[in-house]
Amino acid sequence: ATPVGLLTGTGRGAQLGILIKGPQVLEDTRTVDTILLDKTGTVTTGVLAVDATEAFAGFSGTQVLRLAGAVEAASEHPVARAVAAAAAHEGLHTPDAGRLPGVEGFHSAPGGGVSGTVDGQTVLVGRSGWLAHNDVIPSPQQQQALATAEASGSTAVWVAVDGVPAGIISLRDTVKEGSAAAVARLKDLGLRPILLTGDNAAVAAHVADAVGIAPADVYAGVLPEGKVEAVRKLQAGGATVAMAGDGVNDAAALAQADLGIAMGSGTDVAIEAADLTMMGNDLAQVAQAIELSRRTLATIR
Ligand code: ADP
Ligand code: MG
Repeated sequence: ATPVGLLTGTGRGAQLGILIKGPQVLEDTRTVDTILLDKTGTVTTGVLAVDATEAFAGFSGTQVLRLAGAVEAASEHPVARAVAAAAAHEGLHTPDAGRLPGVEGFHSAPGGGVSGTVDGQTVLVGRSGWLAHNDVIPSPQQQQALATAEASGSTAVWVAVDGVPAGIISLRDTVKEGSAAAVARLKDLGLRPILLTGDNAAVAAHVADAVGIAPADVYAGVLPEGKVEAVRKLQAGGATVAMAGDGVNDAAALAQADLGIAMGSGTDVAIEAADLTMMGNDLAQVAQAIELSRRTLATIR
């Protein structure tokens, strides 16, 4: 039988702006002791801004940005939105007034990058592993340029054209205003928060420090399959795991977690895979959801 208290909890959840897939979900929530937090779009705003473009091999910064933007215009990823917006802005004073060239054969590899053909050229945008997967190997100097950008706390992506590294685009994200307070509240509830991201270690460490997550609890450079693996490993070690995320790259991990939590601004696949969806976009709601379930169940007993 479904306890009435649980249904009441579900209604209270709706008042708080939390969509709960079924009464059983609150029961699962009660025992959660570990919470994996996706970085981009969950702990941070996920609204990135391009802050520098570096060009190699005879390309200009404008060319690099325009070619990358043309491909990224077809992607929903936060990196993609920022690159496409900056590219459109860069072209405002050209004859096509910011319109980006069209892309053919667009392909997206979640947690890796994108590719497509622009003006007859094959363009790749993404992380080092995505370039290597496409047999593009940057020179040691070019790799040093990327490492320097990352060490400064930027998210940096490669742009390659016809198999040759053409440049690097550096982007910045902002930690959400309520994230540090929400992490503190999760800890008060007895949960161990872990930051989980496909982004580089320097950016991840910076964000973890800003919100109060221990350096040992930062898992960076994790591919989407790695996110699922991280959940499984913690479960195998006896933890009951919640995972909060928003991206296509988080969906499988949200499904694997004992409690999957999607941010309201998240992609449809993430929401589909989750048990709880925050209608707002605030990490504080995640702590509220856990508090709510504990209070609701305490009432029933
Ligand atoms: P997160 O776990 O922080 O949400 P993702 O797994 O989505 O990050 O992405 C990890 C990394 O993969 C990004 O930091 C970026 O380097 C690269 N990447 C993913 N999607 C794209 C894209 N559309 N364009 C360029 N790079 C991308
Ligand atoms: Mg994300």
